[in-house]
Amino acid sequence: MEIEIATIGGYEEVGRQMTAVRAGNDVVIFDMGLNLSQVLIHDNVETERMHSLDLIDMGAIPDDRIMSDLEGDVQAIVPTHGHLDHIGAISKLAHRYDAPIVATPFTIELVKQQIEGEQKFGVENDLVKMDAGETMSIGDSGTVDLEFVNVTHSIIDAINPVLHTPEGAVVYGLDKRMDHSPVLGDPIDMERFREIGREGEGVLCYIEDCTNANKKGRTPSESVAREHLKDVLYSMEDYDGGIVATTFSSHISRVTSLVEFAKDIGRQPVLLGRSMEKYSGTAERLDFVDFPDDLGMFGHRKSVDRTFKRIMNEGKENYLPVVTGHQGEPRAMLTRMARGETPYELDDGDKVVFSARVIPEPTNEGQRYQAEKLLGMQGARVYDDIHVSGHLNQEGHYEMLDALQPQNIIPAHQDLKGLSGYVNLCESEGYQMGRDIHVSRNGNLIQLVD
Ligand SMILES: [Zn+2]
Repeated sequence: MEIEIATIGGYEEVGRQMTAVRAGNDVVIFDMGLNLSQVLIHDNVETERMHSLDLIDMGAIPDDRIMSDLEGDVQAIVPTHGHLDHIGAISKLAHRYDAPIVATPFTIELVKQQIEGEQKFGVENDLVKMDAGETMSIGDSGTVDLEFVNVTHSIIDAINPVLHTPEGAVVYGLDKRMDHSPVLGDPIDMERFREIGREGEGVLCYIEDCTNANKKGRTPSESVAREHLKDVLYSMEDYDGGIVATTFSSHISRVTSLVEFAKDIGRQPVLLGRSMEKYSGTAERLDFVDFPDDLGMFGHRKSVDRTFKRIMNEGKENYLPVVTGHQGEPRAMLTRMARGETPYELDDGDKVVFSARVIPEPTNEGQRYQAEKLLGMQGARVYDDIHVSGHLNQEGHYEMLDALQPQNIIPAHQDLKGLSGYVNLCESEGYQMGRDIHVSRNGNLIQLVD
Protein backbone atom coordinates (compact mmCIF):
# COMPACT_ATOMS: atom_id res chain seq x y z
CA MET A 1 0.00 0.00 0.00
CA GLU A 2 1.34 3.44 -0.88
CA ILE A 3 1.99 5.63 2.13
CA GLU A 4 2.54 9.34 1.69
CA ILE A 5 2.75 12.21 4.18
CA ALA A 6 1.92 15.83 3.43
CA THR A 7 3.59 18.25 5.86
CA ILE A 8 1.21 21.15 5.42
CA GLY A 9 1.63 23.50 8.37
CA GLY A 10 3.70 23.80 11.53
CA TYR A 11 6.92 22.61 9.89
CA GLU A 12 8.49 26.08 9.82
CA GLU A 13 7.00 27.46 13.02
CA VAL A 14 5.25 26.62 16.26
CA GLY A 15 1.64 27.07 15.22
CA ARG A 16 -0.86 26.30 12.40
CA GLN A 17 -0.26 22.57 12.61
CA MET A 18 -1.61 20.41 9.79
CA THR A 19 -0.42 17.08 8.43
CA ALA A 20 -2.12 14.61 6.07
CA VAL A 21 -1.35 10.92 5.84
CA ARG A 22 -2.39 8.93 2.75
CA ALA A 23 -2.65 5.17 3.07
CA GLY A 24 -3.66 3.81 -0.32
CA ASN A 25 -6.82 5.68 -1.29
CA ASP A 26 -7.58 6.91 2.19
CA VAL A 27 -6.35 10.19 3.63
CA VAL A 28 -6.52 11.31 7.26
CA ILE A 29 -5.76 14.89 8.25
CA PHE A 30 -4.17 15.50 11.65
CA ASP A 31 -4.80 18.99 13.11
CA MET A 32 -5.88 22.23 11.43
CA GLY A 33 -4.38 24.97 13.53
CA LEU A 34 -3.94 28.71 13.74
CA ASN A 35 -0.65 30.56 14.10
CA LEU A 36 -1.63 32.88 16.93
CA SER A 37 1.43 35.11 16.71
CA GLN A 38 0.57 35.97 13.09
CA VAL A 39 -2.88 36.99 14.30
CA LEU A 40 -1.41 39.00 17.19
CA ILE A 41 0.87 40.93 14.82
CA HIS A 42 -2.22 42.05 12.92
CA ASP A 43 -3.89 43.35 16.05
CA ASN A 44 -7.62 43.98 15.76
CA VAL A 45 -8.17 41.50 12.92
CA GLU A 46 -11.38 39.62 13.38
CA THR A 47 -10.49 36.19 12.09
CA GLU A 48 -14.16 35.15 12.44
CA ARG A 49 -15.02 37.30 9.43
CA MET A 50 -11.95 36.62 7.31
CA HIS A 51 -11.63 34.50 4.20
CA SER A 52 -9.34 31.45 4.20
CA LEU A 53 -7.07 32.71 1.41
CA ASP A 54 -6.40 36.00 3.24
CA LEU A 55 -5.57 34.08 6.41
CA ILE A 56 -3.28 31.76 4.40
CA ASP A 57 -1.49 34.81 2.95
CA MET A 58 -1.09 36.19 6.48
CA GLY A 59 0.57 32.91 7.51
CA ALA A 60 -2.18 32.49 10.09
CA ILE A 61 -3.63 29.17 8.86
CA PRO A 62 -2.08 26.25 6.95
CA ASP A 63 -1.81 26.56 3.16
CA ASP A 64 -3.71 23.38 2.32
CA ARG A 65 -3.61 23.83 -1.46
CA ILE A 66 -1.09 21.00 -1.59
CA MET A 67 -3.94 18.64 -0.71
CA SER A 68 -4.95 18.67 -4.39
CA ASP A 69 -1.66 16.88 -5.18
CA LEU A 70 -2.56 14.08 -2.81
CA GLU A 71 -4.61 11.31 -4.41
CA GLY A 72 -7.37 9.60 -2.49
CA ASP A 73 -10.25 10.77 -0.34
CA VAL A 74 -10.08 12.49 3.00
CA GLN A 75 -11.83 10.17 5.44
CA ALA A 76 -11.35 12.06 8.70
CA ILE A 77 -10.05 15.30 10.16
CA VAL A 78 -8.47 14.54 13.52
CA PRO A 79 -7.53 17.36 15.90
CA THR A 80 -5.35 15.96 18.69
CA HIS A 81 -6.36 18.42 21.43
CA GLY A 82 -8.11 21.72 21.91
CA HIS A 83 -5.25 24.22 21.64
CA LEU A 84 -5.80 26.82 18.93
CA ASP A 85 -2.61 25.94 17.08
CA HIS A 86 -4.28 22.56 16.48
CA ILE A 87 -7.98 23.39 16.02
CA GLY A 88 -8.00 27.11 15.17
CA ALA A 89 -8.24 26.70 11.38
CA ILE A 90 -11.01 24.07 11.35
CA SER A 91 -13.69 26.73 10.91
CA LYS A 92 -11.79 28.07 7.87
CA LEU A 93 -10.71 24.86 6.12
CA ALA A 94 -12.79 21.86 7.20
CA HIS A 95 -15.76 22.69 4.96
CA ARG A 96 -13.56 22.00 1.91
CA TYR A 97 -13.40 18.32 2.86
CA ASP A 98 -16.26 15.86 2.84
CA ALA A 99 -15.16 14.15 6.03
CA PRO A 100 -16.13 14.02 9.70
CA ILE A 101 -14.09 15.67 12.44
CA VAL A 102 -13.06 12.95 14.89
CA ALA A 103 -11.72 13.89 18.33
CA THR A 104 -12.07 13.30 22.06
CA PRO A 105 -15.16 14.78 23.79
CA PHE A 106 -13.51 17.91 25.24
CA THR A 107 -11.79 18.70 21.94
CA ILE A 108 -15.01 18.15 19.97
CA GLU A 109 -16.84 20.57 22.26
CA LEU A 110 -14.20 23.27 21.67
CA VAL A 111 -14.35 22.63 17.91
CA LYS A 112 -18.12 22.96 18.06
CA GLN A 113 -17.88 26.32 19.84
CA GLN A 114 -15.36 27.51 17.28
CA ILE A 115 -17.58 26.52 14.36
CA GLU A 116 -20.52 28.30 16.01
CA GLY A 117 -18.43 31.49 16.23
CA GLU A 118 -17.46 31.33 12.55
CA GLN A 119 -19.12 34.06 10.49
CA LYS A 120 -17.71 33.50 7.01
CA PHE A 121 -18.26 29.81 6.31
CA GLY A 122 -20.95 27.31 7.14
CA VAL A 123 -19.04 24.32 8.48
CA GLU A 124 -21.22 21.24 8.38
CA ASN A 125 -18.77 18.38 8.85
CA ASP A 126 -20.06 15.69 11.21
CA LEU A 127 -18.53 15.87 14.69
CA VAL A 128 -17.63 12.40 15.94
CA LYS A 129 -16.46 11.73 19.51
CA MET A 130 -13.91 9.03 20.17
CA ASP A 131 -12.19 8.39 23.51
CA ALA A 132 -8.55 7.58 24.17
CA GLY A 133 -8.03 3.82 23.88
CA GLU A 134 -10.62 3.46 21.11
CA THR A 135 -10.15 2.55 17.45
CA MET A 136 -12.20 3.14 14.30
CA SER A 137 -11.94 1.74 10.80
CA ILE A 138 -10.92 4.20 8.03
CA GLY A 139 -12.20 3.91 4.44
CA ASP A 140 -13.36 0.75 2.70
CA SER A 141 -10.14 -1.24 2.42
CA GLY A 142 -10.72 -2.86 5.81
CA THR A 143 -6.99 -2.63 6.51
CA VAL A 144 -6.62 0.93 7.82
CA ASP A 145 -7.56 1.83 11.39
CA LEU A 146 -7.36 4.96 13.48
CA GLU A 147 -6.49 4.58 17.17
CA PHE A 148 -6.33 7.21 19.93
CA VAL A 149 -3.59 6.73 22.54
CA ASN A 150 -3.94 8.69 25.78
CA VAL A 151 -1.24 11.33 26.34
CA THR A 152 -0.69 14.14 28.84
CA HIS A 153 -0.42 17.78 27.84
CA SER A 154 -1.31 21.22 29.19
CA ILE A 155 -4.95 20.71 28.22
CA ILE A 156 -7.22 17.85 29.21
CA ASP A 157 -8.37 15.02 26.92
CA ALA A 158 -5.29 15.09 24.65
CA ILE A 159 -4.41 12.07 22.51
CA ASN A 160 -1.85 10.97 19.95
CA PRO A 161 -3.61 9.44 16.96
CA VAL A 162 -2.12 6.36 15.34
CA LEU A 163 -2.98 5.32 11.79
CA HIS A 164 -2.53 1.56 11.47
CA THR A 165 -1.75 0.49 7.89
CA PRO A 166 -0.56 -2.79 6.33
CA GLU A 167 2.88 -1.14 6.04
CA GLY A 168 3.09 -0.33 9.74
CA ALA A 169 1.78 2.35 12.07
CA VAL A 170 2.02 6.09 11.48
CA VAL A 171 2.16 7.71 14.92
CA TYR A 172 1.33 11.42 15.08
CA GLY A 173 3.08 12.62 18.24
CA LEU A 174 1.79 16.21 18.67
CA ASP A 175 1.53 17.50 21.54
CA LYS A 176 2.53 15.84 24.76
CA ARG A 177 4.70 15.53 27.80
CA MET A 178 5.27 12.31 29.71
CA ASP A 179 3.25 12.73 32.88
CA HIS A 180 2.93 9.76 35.18
CA SER A 181 1.17 11.72 37.95
CA PRO A 182 -1.09 14.27 36.23
CA VAL A 183 -3.44 16.46 38.27
CA LEU A 184 -6.46 15.59 36.08
CA GLY A 185 -7.00 12.58 33.83
CA ASP A 186 -4.96 9.43 33.27
CA PRO A 187 -1.17 9.14 32.95
CA ILE A 188 0.35 8.86 29.46
CA ASP A 189 -0.21 5.36 28.04
CA MET A 190 3.43 4.36 27.51
CA GLU A 191 2.52 0.70 27.66
CA ARG A 192 0.41 1.08 24.52
CA PHE A 193 3.18 2.99 22.72
CA ARG A 194 5.60 0.17 23.52
CA GLU A 195 3.11 -2.39 22.18
CA ILE A 196 2.60 -0.42 18.97
CA GLY A 197 6.39 -0.34 18.53
CA ARG A 198 6.56 -4.10 18.66
CA GLU A 199 3.34 -5.45 17.10
CA GLY A 200 2.78 -6.24 13.40
CA GLU A 201 5.00 -4.27 11.07
CA GLY A 202 6.03 -1.91 13.89
CA VAL A 203 6.07 1.86 13.42
CA LEU A 204 6.59 2.99 9.83
CA CYS A 205 6.76 6.66 10.76
CA TYR A 206 6.77 8.86 13.84
CA ILE A 207 5.90 12.55 13.56
CA GLU A 208 7.25 14.26 16.68
CA ASP A 209 6.42 17.41 18.66
CA CYS A 210 9.78 19.24 18.73
CA THR A 211 8.66 22.33 20.70
CA ASN A 212 11.25 21.64 23.42
CA ALA A 213 13.71 19.65 21.31
CA ASN A 214 16.63 21.80 22.43
CA LYS A 215 15.88 21.43 26.15
CA LYS A 216 17.84 18.90 28.14
CA GLY A 217 16.48 16.55 30.77
CA ARG A 218 12.91 15.63 31.50
CA THR A 219 9.79 17.82 31.59
CA PRO A 220 8.38 17.68 35.14
CA SER A 221 4.86 16.47 35.85
CA GLU A 222 1.95 18.86 36.34
CA SER A 223 2.02 17.74 39.98
CA VAL A 224 5.35 19.61 40.31
CA ALA A 225 3.78 22.86 39.07
CA ARG A 226 0.94 22.22 41.50
CA GLU A 227 3.33 21.91 44.47
CA HIS A 228 5.18 25.05 43.35
CA LEU A 229 1.90 26.94 43.15
CA LYS A 230 0.85 25.66 46.55
CA ASP A 231 4.10 26.87 48.10
CA VAL A 232 3.69 30.33 46.57
CA LEU A 233 0.03 30.80 47.54
CA TYR A 234 0.45 29.35 51.04
CA SER A 235 3.30 31.85 51.61
CA MET A 236 0.72 34.60 51.02
CA GLU A 237 -1.78 33.31 53.57
CA ASP A 238 -1.25 36.19 55.99
CA TYR A 239 -1.23 38.93 53.37
CA ASP A 240 -4.29 41.12 53.82
CA GLY A 241 -4.31 42.87 50.45
CA GLY A 242 -5.00 41.87 46.87
CA ILE A 243 -3.77 38.66 45.28
CA VAL A 244 -4.45 38.08 41.59
CA ALA A 245 -3.43 35.02 39.56
CA THR A 246 -3.26 34.35 35.85
CA THR A 247 -2.67 31.25 33.76
CA PHE A 248 -3.57 29.68 30.41
CA SER A 249 -7.39 29.60 30.33
CA SER A 250 -7.34 26.22 28.61
CA HIS A 251 -5.08 24.75 31.31
CA ILE A 252 -7.88 23.22 33.36
CA SER A 253 -5.54 21.33 35.75
CA ARG A 254 -3.79 24.56 36.66
CA VAL A 255 -7.03 26.49 37.10
CA THR A 256 -8.25 23.67 39.36
CA SER A 257 -5.12 23.96 41.52
CA LEU A 258 -5.48 27.75 41.74
CA VAL A 259 -9.12 27.43 42.82
CA GLU A 260 -8.24 24.84 45.45
CA PHE A 261 -5.32 26.76 46.99
CA ALA A 262 -7.29 30.02 46.99
CA LYS A 263 -9.86 28.26 49.20
CA ASP A 264 -7.06 26.82 51.37
CA ILE A 265 -5.74 30.31 52.19
CA GLY A 266 -9.22 31.59 53.00
CA ARG A 267 -10.05 33.43 49.80
CA GLN A 268 -12.96 33.08 47.42
CA PRO A 269 -11.63 32.27 43.93
CA VAL A 270 -13.39 33.80 40.95
CA LEU A 271 -12.61 33.20 37.26
CA LEU A 272 -12.67 36.33 35.10
CA GLY A 273 -12.26 36.90 31.39
CA ARG A 274 -13.97 35.54 28.30
CA SER A 275 -11.71 32.56 27.66
CA MET A 276 -11.49 31.73 31.40
CA GLU A 277 -15.25 31.35 31.42
CA LYS A 278 -15.27 29.45 28.12
CA TYR A 279 -12.75 26.70 28.92
CA SER A 280 -13.54 26.19 32.60
CA GLY A 281 -17.28 26.33 31.94
CA THR A 282 -16.93 23.71 29.20
CA ALA A 283 -14.77 21.43 31.37
CA GLU A 284 -17.28 21.66 34.22
CA ARG A 285 -20.29 21.05 31.96
CA LEU A 286 -18.64 17.93 30.52
CA ASP A 287 -17.75 16.67 34.05
CA PHE A 288 -13.98 16.82 33.61
CA VAL A 289 -13.73 18.84 36.83
CA ASP A 290 -15.80 19.36 39.92
CA PHE A 291 -15.42 23.02 40.88
CA PRO A 292 -16.90 24.30 44.18
CA ASP A 293 -20.57 25.27 43.74
CA ASP A 294 -19.88 28.88 44.69
CA LEU A 295 -17.14 29.39 42.08
CA GLY A 296 -18.09 32.36 39.93
CA MET A 297 -17.05 32.50 36.25
CA PHE A 298 -17.64 35.70 34.34
CA GLY A 299 -16.72 36.53 30.76
CA HIS A 300 -18.72 39.57 29.75
CA ARG A 301 -17.28 42.98 30.45
CA LYS A 302 -20.28 44.13 32.50
CA SER A 303 -20.41 41.09 34.77
CA VAL A 304 -16.63 41.22 35.24
CA ASP A 305 -16.77 44.88 36.26
CA ARG A 306 -19.67 44.17 38.59
CA THR A 307 -17.60 41.41 40.23
CA PHE A 308 -14.61 43.72 40.62
CA LYS A 309 -16.84 46.31 42.29
CA ARG A 310 -18.14 43.69 44.68
CA ILE A 311 -14.57 42.62 45.49
CA MET A 312 -13.58 46.24 46.20
CA ASN A 313 -16.65 46.72 48.42
CA GLU A 314 -16.25 43.52 50.39
CA GLY A 315 -12.46 43.71 50.63
CA LYS A 316 -9.77 42.45 48.27
CA GLU A 317 -8.38 40.28 51.07
CA ASN A 318 -11.41 37.99 50.75
CA TYR A 319 -10.92 37.12 47.07
CA LEU A 320 -8.51 35.65 44.59
CA PRO A 321 -9.40 36.58 41.01
CA VAL A 322 -7.99 34.18 38.41
CA VAL A 323 -7.82 36.21 35.23
CA THR A 324 -6.75 36.11 31.58
CA GLY A 325 -3.62 37.92 30.42
CA HIS A 326 -0.61 35.72 31.30
CA GLN A 327 1.14 36.76 28.07
CA GLY A 328 0.31 40.45 28.55
CA GLU A 329 -2.26 40.34 25.75
CA PRO A 330 -3.41 43.97 25.34
CA ARG A 331 -7.11 43.30 25.72
CA ALA A 332 -6.93 40.60 28.39
CA MET A 333 -8.15 41.16 31.93
CA LEU A 334 -4.80 41.45 33.72
CA THR A 335 -3.51 44.02 31.23
CA ARG A 336 -6.68 46.06 31.69
CA MET A 337 -6.20 45.83 35.46
CA ALA A 338 -2.57 46.96 35.06
CA ARG A 339 -3.71 49.95 33.03
CA GLY A 340 -6.23 50.86 35.73
CA GLU A 341 -9.17 50.22 33.40
CA THR A 342 -11.15 48.05 35.81
CA PRO A 343 -12.75 48.87 39.17
CA TYR A 344 -10.13 46.63 40.86
CA GLU A 345 -7.43 48.84 42.34
CA LEU A 346 -3.96 47.44 42.81
CA ASP A 347 -2.05 48.76 45.82
CA ASP A 348 1.58 48.72 46.88
CA GLY A 349 2.58 45.19 47.77
CA ASP A 350 -0.35 43.42 46.08
CA LYS A 351 0.64 40.09 44.58
CA VAL A 352 0.32 39.03 40.97
CA VAL A 353 0.98 35.33 40.34
CA PHE A 354 1.87 34.27 36.78
CA SER A 355 1.32 30.52 36.62
CA ALA A 356 2.70 30.55 33.10
CA ARG A 357 5.89 31.14 31.19
CA VAL A 358 6.25 33.81 28.52
CA ILE A 359 6.01 32.12 25.13
CA PRO A 360 9.49 32.84 23.70
CA GLU A 361 8.36 34.86 20.74
CA PRO A 362 8.94 38.60 20.26
CA THR A 363 5.28 39.69 20.22
CA ASN A 364 4.55 37.91 23.47
CA GLU A 365 7.78 39.01 25.08
CA GLY A 366 7.09 42.65 24.25
CA GLN A 367 3.50 42.58 25.44
CA ARG A 368 4.36 40.73 28.59
CA TYR A 369 7.18 43.16 29.38
CA GLN A 370 4.75 46.05 29.05
CA ALA A 371 2.11 44.44 31.24
CA GLU A 372 4.65 43.68 33.96
CA LYS A 373 5.97 47.25 33.85
CA LEU A 374 2.45 48.62 34.23
CA LEU A 375 1.76 46.28 37.15
CA GLY A 376 5.01 47.38 38.76
CA MET A 377 4.00 51.03 38.39
CA GLN A 378 0.90 50.25 40.45
CA GLY A 379 3.15 48.77 43.15
CA ALA A 380 2.32 45.13 42.46
CA ARG A 381 4.81 42.36 43.24
CA VAL A 382 5.16 39.81 40.45
CA TYR A 383 5.61 36.06 41.04
CA ASP A 384 6.69 34.66 37.70
CA ASP A 385 7.20 31.32 35.99
CA ILE A 386 5.17 29.04 38.25
CA HIS A 387 4.79 26.55 35.45
CA VAL A 388 5.92 23.35 33.78
CA SER A 389 5.88 22.89 30.02
CA GLY A 390 3.35 20.71 28.23
CA HIS A 391 5.96 19.37 25.82
CA LEU A 392 8.63 16.68 25.96
CA ASN A 393 12.25 17.59 26.62
CA GLN A 394 15.11 15.50 25.21
CA GLU A 395 14.87 12.58 27.63
CA GLY A 396 11.18 12.25 26.81
CA HIS A 397 12.06 12.19 23.12
CA TYR A 398 14.63 9.50 23.82
CA GLU A 399 12.04 7.41 25.67
CA MET A 400 9.56 7.75 22.81
CA LEU A 401 12.15 6.60 20.26
CA ASP A 402 12.96 3.66 22.50
CA ALA A 403 9.26 2.76 22.90
CA LEU A 404 8.27 3.13 19.23
CA GLN A 405 11.49 2.25 17.37
CA PRO A 406 10.18 4.01 14.26
CA GLN A 407 11.60 3.27 10.78
CA ASN A 408 11.13 6.91 9.71
CA ILE A 409 10.97 10.15 11.68
CA ILE A 410 9.50 13.52 10.78
CA PRO A 411 10.24 16.35 13.24
CA ALA A 412 7.39 18.89 13.52
CA HIS A 413 6.06 21.85 15.57
CA GLN A 414 9.25 23.94 15.24
CA ASP A 415 11.44 25.89 12.84
CA LEU A 416 14.78 24.49 11.66
CA LYS A 417 16.74 25.89 14.57
CA GLY A 418 14.17 24.71 17.07
CA LEU A 419 14.18 21.11 15.91
CA SER A 420 17.97 20.78 15.60
CA GLY A 421 18.29 19.16 19.03
CA TYR A 422 15.87 16.45 17.97
CA VAL A 423 17.78 15.70 14.77
CA ASN A 424 20.99 15.41 16.81
CA LEU A 425 19.30 13.02 19.21
CA CYS A 426 17.98 10.87 16.35
CA GLU A 427 21.42 10.78 14.71
CA SER A 428 22.99 9.66 17.96
CA GLU A 429 20.44 6.83 17.91
CA GLY A 430 21.56 5.70 14.46
CA TYR A 431 19.11 7.56 12.21
CA GLN A 432 20.37 9.57 9.26
CA MET A 433 19.21 12.85 7.72
CA GLY A 434 17.80 12.25 4.25
CA ARG A 435 17.57 8.51 4.79
CA ASP A 436 15.13 8.04 7.64
CA ILE A 437 14.99 11.48 9.29
CA HIS A 438 12.84 13.63 7.02
CA VAL A 439 13.24 17.29 7.94
CA SER A 440 10.43 18.92 6.01
CA ARG A 441 8.95 22.35 5.29
CA ASN A 442 5.36 23.50 4.93
CA GLY A 443 3.85 22.20 1.71
CA ASN A 444 6.01 19.12 1.10
CA LEU A 445 5.02 15.57 0.21
CA ILE A 446 7.05 12.67 1.59
CA GLN A 447 6.55 9.32 -0.11
CA LEU A 448 7.37 6.63 2.47
CA VAL A 449 6.15 3.54 0.60
CA ASP A 450 5.79 3.48 -3.23
ZN1 LIG B 1 -0.84 21.94 22.53
